Amino acid sequence: MICVILSGHPERRLRRCLGIEYGGSCGDGSLRCLMIDPEFAAAASRLCLACGMCCNGVLFQIVRLQPTDSVAILESRGLKLRRKKRAPYFDQPCAMLDGCHCTLYVDRPSRCRAFECQQIQRLGAGETSEEEALAVIVEARHRVARVESKLAEAGEGSTDLPLLERCAFSLAVEDGDVAELNALLDAEFRVVPGH
Ligand code: SF4
Ligand code: SF4
Repeated sequence: MICVILSGHPERRLRRCLGIEYGGSCGDGSLRCLMIDPEFAAAASRLCLACGMCCNGVLFQIVRLQPTDSVAILESRGLKLRRKKRAPYFDQPCAMLDGCHCTLYVDRPSRCRAFECQQIQRLGAGETSEEEALAVIVEARHRVARVESKLAEAGEGSTDLPLLERCAFSLAVEDGDVAELNALLDAEFRVVPGH
């Protein structure tokens, strides 16, 4: 989820962000500071609160922590970290997600702050409207629901594994609904590293 610095944000964080231009690197670790465009920030926030797919195991399987993240703070807030070759990460679906709300929002890891899916990037670039982006999100969530229903029919009811992992365990490799969902996620949400 993106960094959404709005007028109600605590003063200390607002001060830290003042003077940062859109597209710049923000003092609190975000790739983009949205404060100078409150309309965009509000629209992006509404879209994310209607989506949640970068947190709920649809788009990602894990999130790796970065050197700027505080393991102590994150663990004290209840985030359960795992380690691979001593590098900390956490699994998705994220246990800190409540519906489409991040319960760790103020302290969320830097990758969470920095991530912008294609819809949010296009919104920021003026290439799509909030209404158009919302329609894409609704369509994606509809396709996720269709796949979830197939998984339920197949007796796959795990809630703690990423969606595509559950599909790989329980549905045919060539399942059309899974392929359609993946194609939509590639075309409309996933971001090529470095872009
Ligand atoms: S996938 Fe995009 S729209 Fe959905 S919550 Fe993540 S950043 Fe927001
Ligand atoms: S910490 Fe928050 S923003 Fe990051 S994956 Fe979990 S719910 Fe999403």
